[in-house]
Amino acid sequence: MDDVIFTADCEKCFGLCCTALSFERSSQFGHDKLGGEPCQYLASDFRCRIHERREDLGYGGCEAFDCMGAGQRVSAAFAPLNWRQDSGIARRLHARFSQLLALQELRQALETATRLDLPSDLHTRRLALLRDVAEDADSLTVDVTATGQAVLNEGRTFLRGLAGSVIA
Ligand code: SF4
Repeated sequence: MDDVIFTADCEKCFGLCCTALSFERSSQFGHDKLGGEPCQYLASDFRCRIHERREDLGYGGCEAFDCMGAGQRVSAAFAPLNWRQDSGIARRLHARFSQLLALQELRQALETATRLDLPSDLHTRRLALLRDVAEDADSLTVDVTATGQAVLNEGRTFLRGLAGSVIA
């Protein structure tokens, strides 16, 4: 597996995990946060003001989170757009980030399935799905895509079937 594909590059991200996603006050997060609103600890340069102390301050969930490279991909696509001033564009940014997260998760699961000794038809299908995921995830698309949703549905169905055949 090419780890570069799944390595988050926070230096090239607009702090999307700290903005787009929601969390609830719990043992993992110190306060409630709505999706689409920046965390109270996110600085204007998209750095976390409590980064070194997150676990101590009750934000272990932030440490555990990994966007698998979704953040820098979406940030690159939206960099030319005025998402800071336009809430409509910001909503599109956050929606596309959520889709990219799901696509990267699927991509990693399909990559991991390379360790399985699959029959050739399933192997061929796995490779085709990986190509489709990569095409959408690595594009500079600035909206949630129908093709991305289709490959998510197909990929999840494929993985569920795979789990059944491996267990059987
Ligand atoms: S505590 Fe830091 S890492 Fe966690 S969401 Fe807030 S800004 Fe991001």
